[in-house]
Amino acid sequence: MSTPAIDTHCPYCALQCGMGLRPSEGGVEVVEWADFPVNRGALCGKGRTAPEVLSSRVRLTGPLIRSRTTGRLEPAGWEEALDRVAERLVRARAGHGPDAVGVFGGGGLTNEKAYALGKFARVVLRTSQIDYNGRFCMSSAAAAHQRAFGLDRGLPFPLEDIPRTGCVILVGSNPAETMPPALRYFTRLRENGGKLIVVDPRRTRTAEQADLHLQPRPGTDLALALGLLHLVVADGLLDEGFIAGRTTGWENARSAAISHWPELVERITGVPVPQLREAVAMFCGAPDSMVLTARGPEQQSKGTDTVSAWINLCLATGRAGRPLSGYGCLTGQGNGQGGREHGQKADQLPGYRKLDDPAARAHVAGVWGVDADDLPAPGRSAYELLDALGGDVKALLLMGSNPVVSAPRAAHITERIASLDFLAVCDVVLSETAAMADVVLPVTQWAEETGTTTNLEGRVLLRRKAIDPPPGVRSDLDVLHGLAARLGWEKGFPTDPEEVFDELRRASAGGPADYSGITYERIAAEDGVFWPCPDASAGAGAGAGAGAHPGTPRLFLDRFATPDGRARFIPVLHRPSAEEPDADYPLYLTTGRVLTHYQSGAQTRRVPELNAAAPGPYVQLHPRLADLLGIADGEPVAVTSRRGRAVAPALISRAIRADTVFMPFHWAGEGRANTLTNPALDPTSRMPEFKVCAVRVEAAGHS
Ligand code: SF4
Repeated sequence: MSTPAIDTHCPYCALQCGMGLRPSEGGVEVVEWADFPVNRGALCGKGRTAPEVLSSRVRLTGPLIRSRTTGRLEPAGWEEALDRVAERLVRARAGHGPDAVGVFGGGGLTNEKAYALGKFARVVLRTSQIDYNGRFCMSSAAAAHQRAFGLDRGLPFPLEDIPRTGCVILVGSNPAETMPPALRYFTRLRENGGKLIVVDPRRTRTAEQADLHLQPRPGTDLALALGLLHLVVADGLLDEGFIAGRTTGWENARSAAISHWPELVERITGVPVPQLREAVAMFCGAPDSMVLTARGPEQQSKGTDTVSAWINLCLATGRAGRPLSGYGCLTGQGNGQGGREHGQKADQLPGYRKLDDPAARAHVAGVWGVDADDLPAPGRSAYELLDALGGDVKALLLMGSNPVVSAPRAAHITERIASLDFLAVCDVVLSETAAMADVVLPVTQWAEETGTTTNLEGRVLLRRKAIDPPPGVRSDLDVLHGLAARLGWEKGFPTDPEEVFDELRRASAGGPADYSGITYERIAAEDGVFWPCPDASAGAGAGAGAGAHPGTPRLFLDRFATPDGRARFIPVLHRPSAEEPDADYPLYLTTGRVLTHYQSGAQTRRVPELNAAAPGPYVQLHPRLADLLGIADGEPVAVTSRRGRAVAPALISRAIRADTVFMPFHWAGEGRANTLTNPALDPTSRMPEFKVCAVRVEAAGHS
């Protein structure tokens, strides 16, 4: 009889597909976890091949310290490596103050790690300079969610509601490539007679399946939403009862929308008026409908306002606060949701509490056993923190991120990293950023440790350990424990994930993201528990017994999480992107992902099957543009922005607008798309404008 499989979750995207892992010769093999409700056994190629990184020849299996004599990273013992990191963090702090030490986390870290990292920064290092790469993921949607509904959970309803609604507008999202098992929800929507509208400057694999594809200019999604709302007003399709009974602020939002008449919106977006009318007919013609956004509208310097415009459309038509309707965000990173709830974000404390809220500070400080006055103030956002490296931030501890590839204006950020006095990186492979470190600490991977993640639905999940890590590798929790001990905190940083989770539950109790009623036992028994889930068992054992809160799959059914219980319209107006095409840089560049790679590619580029399928970057451009520029398919193309130049082969395709080129961002080197991207920040979310900048394109031999 074969060994039973251990049910766990994929290490990559926010769908957090369930999979079984069975120990096999030399590692683990993937078997189907058919019952897990989110993906019903389906996996994409990334998830199916994820175990290959566990046994990869190139994974790190021992600490590395940069030699003072050779300048190279050389093998070292754990005690020496941790001593070195602690000593250099202390030195930076002693010389320049606590904010001279920065901490940069990741949206792939488990809830336990995100929590421990935030606590380590604020309690041990006492630095305000902590943020994480999730800022580059969903922060605009989170900010818009907060200001409209008073609470941010990516999807305020479960995925299973999608096939049962009548119409979905999917804005700047391509699940057919980014999270393929999620596509079945949209396929079933259409099989049930529902309509799918996709908004994307590219005719993606997802757009090909839509009933209607709107193909706006990059950076004009806000105007598009206002144009749709204008038509809703003009055609008398408002839900006046919902507006009066459950919202505030409509009059100002209405004024903003009616100033965007359809012909103006067509001029701004390039989307013909008849298509705007068709979209409104589909959206309002269905009894229930949803708007789902992803990075397209969010990664803009007006990302928060753009998402607000789409939320306004939902509110004006009564598509919120009731079953089968609403606004949601399809989060990207594996723990993009949980990663922002537990304290590694510059302005957040565990439980999704605000760091500048005195009551929140007092509660969390009480759990941590420190004085609330000693907790630092909110610090810089991710790009601003990276931009400060080598300036007033002298030393950096980085965990679960690869900004050399993934940060905007990446050549500049690489220079900033190089100018640090000291860099320590925890990673599983020698990523491009780890290769620049003074100390590299090799850490365990997903299947080698237990921990929780929170998927895009707000469903808290248990990733179970299925295999022992190689000798010489430690978990991130071990690293934080070891560093904290060296910095005078013998207690407070346990290495057992369940012990960390129990403390996280207490820290989150009473907060917006309340996990206090969730236990490992419940997650295992219930295939995940949706937060908020307060401990309602009144002393009967932390939510495990009778009277336990059931969790909250659907939010806002009775009231929104604002003080008056009403959703808030936010009046927003179209404005141009920070950089629009001009005589010198006449085209738009937009960036994104491909089917076989995940984020900076640090893991997936090391899987031979995935690498063979997509070995490098490309520049997608329309045949008319290619003709105009004299570029042949496959020919090296130079793309130049005000921040630098990238070179990659041309991929000529009718699937993109003729005024726009697209590059995937998974690679370093001369084809690094983020060399080009614009770090112009959204004023509210501090999201950089990854999705639109102005570029010049030419055959590489001509430049
Ligand atoms: Fe599922 Fe995402 Fe993993 Fe693919 S990468 S298997 S879609 S969780």
